[in-house]
Amino acid sequence: MKSQDIRATFLNFFKEKSHLIVPSAPMVTKDDPTLMFINSGMAPFKEYFLGNAIPKNNRISDSQKCLRVSGKHNDLEEVGYDTYHHTLFEMLGNWSFGDYFKKEAIAWAWELLTEVYKIDKDILYVTVFEGTEDADALEMDTEAYDLWKKHIPEDRILKGNKKDNFWEMGAQGPCGPCSEIHVDIRSAEEKEKVDAKTLINGDHPHVVEIWNLVFMQFNRKADGSLEDLPNKHIDTGMGFERLCMVLQNVQSNYDTDIFKPIISEIGTITNTKYGSNQQQDIATRVISDHLRAVAFSIADGQLPSNTGAGYVIRRILRRAIRYGFTFLDKKEPFIYKLVDVLSKKMGTAFPELIDQKQLIENVIREEEASFLKTLDKGLLLLDVLISSTDSKEISGEKVFELYDTFGFPVDLTALILAEKGYTLDEKGFQEELQKQKKRSRAASESATEDWTVLVEDAVAEFVGYDTLKTSVKITRYRKV
Ligand code: ATP
Ligand code: MG
Ligand code: MG
Ligand code: MG
Repeated sequence: MKSQDIRATFLNFFKEKSHLIVPSAPMVTKDDPTLMFINSGMAPFKEYFLGNAIPKNNRISDSQKCLRVSGKHNDLEEVGYDTYHHTLFEMLGNWSFGDYFKKEAIAWAWELLTEVYKIDKDILYVTVFEGTEDADALEMDTEAYDLWKKHIPEDRILKGNKKDNFWEMGAQGPCGPCSEIHVDIRSAEEKEKVDAKTLINGDHPHVVEIWNLVFMQFNRKADGSLEDLPNKHIDTGMGFERLCMVLQNVQSNYDTDIFKPIISEIGTITNTKYGSNQQQDIATRVISDHLRAVAFSIADGQLPSNTGAGYVIRRILRRAIRYGFTFLDKKEPFIYKLVDVLSKKMGTAFPELIDQKQLIENVIREEEASFLKTLDKGLLLLDVLISSTDSKEISGEKVFELYDTFGFPVDLTALILAEKGYTLDEKGFQEELQKQKKRSRAASESATEDWTVLVEDAVAEFVGYDTLKTSVKITRYRKV
């Protein structure tokens, strides 16, 4: 089944169950100060759940563009290294606003997966909330358990904790238990060796979560206590690319028809073959994923820039450029050339990719050209720095200079140094940063507006470390 038909089948299924089908909301949020990008299917409907707005229909279904690169959900560092987390992905969802509840949500999810998509029942596992003994003193979700029992043998219904099986919108507001559906697509041989139940929610690339059914039945009050919601709601989210992986019988989202044409184009342009070199494969996955995130974002009106959401997009694009530069030996802009195949592939479902194609290409090409220049210069300077020091730690002052004077990103410096077996003097860098902050504050008091903006843009704040799967330690900075 082609991805296009998989998406259409989902929407059609829920249309037949009286759902109103709506287009995806733009991914870049305009009027939600708590969220930079839409990161789940329910986000555009938040006001309905909070009772601040009334939906056109009490049953809705759609495929929502989501971006998980900041805040509560940040999968950026996984992308490329695993085969099932993306920055941008589609979340298929069905919603009930005070209408149907667990019985229908569970029965329909099961019907769609096993009767319509015809997924082998034996590879499916579900989870239900086990309850808590903390202040909430919640009971196990026996209602969901009993409903699942009608469809699936009890030994494949697993009990999960609050972290995985209880959803909350925030510190306050609607919340409730959830049931997740997981799929085991390992080979028979692997299945023999390890019981799937021990791998659920355990980062195995072939035992993955595909669908989350959230049962909103409580309201968390300002004092932290829970009360029953007068109207109970359903919020479900299924990862489209993961579903396609299962239905197309492949072992990676990147082997579905969503990514294959892009990956094949990257191979042609860079003269590499996907699947033949681990480091190049990671780079290829990073680029094919990030291309989508950046292209969709530009189509939604968010261009790369130096602040806010634009800066996040710029960083994603630069991550892709850097992987191409380092691992695929691309010293010339090329990512913009992939927009053509992307818009051909996704343009029917998301016409904005066709309407905005020229703009997307131009913006990406210019970003590539300018960052490649920076990279070239920065890498040379970094090499000089390394060869002129005896220590394994590079001085914070020097790294700051690279950052401040040449615009070479600090996270990149940290990554490259780590790969070469060096570290950077964190404390020294911070001191330089603080000094510069002071200077810029003093300067902005007497400077023109344009100058103030430039100075602010050059300031970063240290926010922590990330450990990559390759065991490279990255130091992360956030613009302030
Ligand atoms: P995971 O545990 O795999 O990170 P999640 O529990 O964070 O997933 P949910 O917030 O429950 O995900 O989102 C609903 C569905 O969206 C998931 O069941 C999964 O199929 C899909 N999904 C979540 N994150 C991603 C991602 N980064 N890329 C692709 N699909 C995703
Ligand atoms: Mg997650
Ligand atoms: Mg999960
Ligand atoms: Mg989940």
